[in-house]
Amino acid sequence: MTDALRPGQTIGILGGGQLGRMLAMAAARLGLKVHIYEPGANPPAGEVAYSVTTAPYDDAAALTAFADSVDVVTYEFENVPAAALDLIEARVPIRPNRQALATSQDRLAEKTFLNDIGLATAPYASLNTEAELAQALASVGMPSILKTRRLGYDGKGQARITDRHDAPAALAAMDGADAILEGFIDFDHEISVIAARGLDDTIACFEPGENIHKDGILDTTRVPADISAATRERAFGIAGTILTALDYVGVIGVEMFVSGDEIIINEFAPRVHNSGHWTEAGAVIDQFEQHIRAIAGWPLVDPLRHSDVEMTNLIGDDIDQIQAIAQETGAKIHLYGKAEARPGRKMGHVTRILGPATDR
Ligand code: AMP
Repeated sequence: MTDALRPGQTIGILGGGQLGRMLAMAAARLGLKVHIYEPGANPPAGEVAYSVTTAPYDDAAALTAFADSVDVVTYEFENVPAAALDLIEARVPIRPNRQALATSQDRLAEKTFLNDIGLATAPYASLNTEAELAQALASVGMPSILKTRRLGYDGKGQARITDRHDAPAALAAMDGADAILEGFIDFDHEISVIAARGLDDTIACFEPGENIHKDGILDTTRVPADISAATRERAFGIAGTILTALDYVGVIGVEMFVSGDEIIINEFAPRVHNSGHWTEAGAVIDQFEQHIRAIAGWPLVDPLRHSDVEMTNLIGDDIDQIQAIAQETGAKIHLYGKAEARPGRKMGHVTRILGPATDR
């Protein structure tokens, strides 16, 4: 492929968290260098990268030097300011593209986009004021979930509303941020599809994983998901539709609710995703290498799953169990090099092989 990066060339990554760390390790295996750009000191990805820039996202000189030192830019953090992206994009390609990033940053834009391409979401209404909230509750119904439109993750910036009298306090807690009210989906299964699209338009989907959340944070992902073959095929189709509509290059994580025969899309992340960490132990290629291949213009791999696996996040002081886990045969440990185990902080994950791949 003419556009492919050659070994020795450099990938720039915006954000230096654990996803950047795992991307950097995958890039190194392919002989590619990684330059991390991260405002915070001592980022997890910095320990395994070729170079690191520590500077804020409004430092034009640092952004320019970063862009000029790399051959392509990707991101593991979605909330990079638009002005920083403008500056970088004038000098070097950003993959996945800006439209994918902008759409995923705003829950309203994301849902509008998904509905426009014929995909189902929870019913929703956008709002700012108490009066608009009352209207939204009337149209969306209850129970429902009030979310900030931007900057929410791991269940942060969200409140479940089961009683309309609680609604004004939930809105006040959002501190004036633009909000969206979503109907609560009484789902049977929560799944995600990790999929990739290459520079040559090839699409490759990992099998759906089944996700269990605790306190709004992903706890475990298990493959295979407990869904029918027909639902699995439809989930692949949905991921492909999104990738094509966005003219996407890279790995995407699409979170879906399965309710009976219906698939409702919760959201997508334009990057590698926590619910795809199982791929490290369960498939012939992991999501990190697939992403690096895609953005570097290399061929994608058909991501066949060879094992049934369960991935469990190590959150906060779960990290204290690490010596016990280390005694288990077949438990693949991945720690992120974070010094301090604060509550809710993702410290690492463990992937357990349950056996050879079965259908369900
Ligand atoms: P989010 O940040 O939007 O991914 O939400 C975090 C988690 O909250 C999801 O993974 C679901 O488990 C749950 N959740 C979010 N939105 C809804 C919804 N509309 N209906 C039911 N559960 C939801």
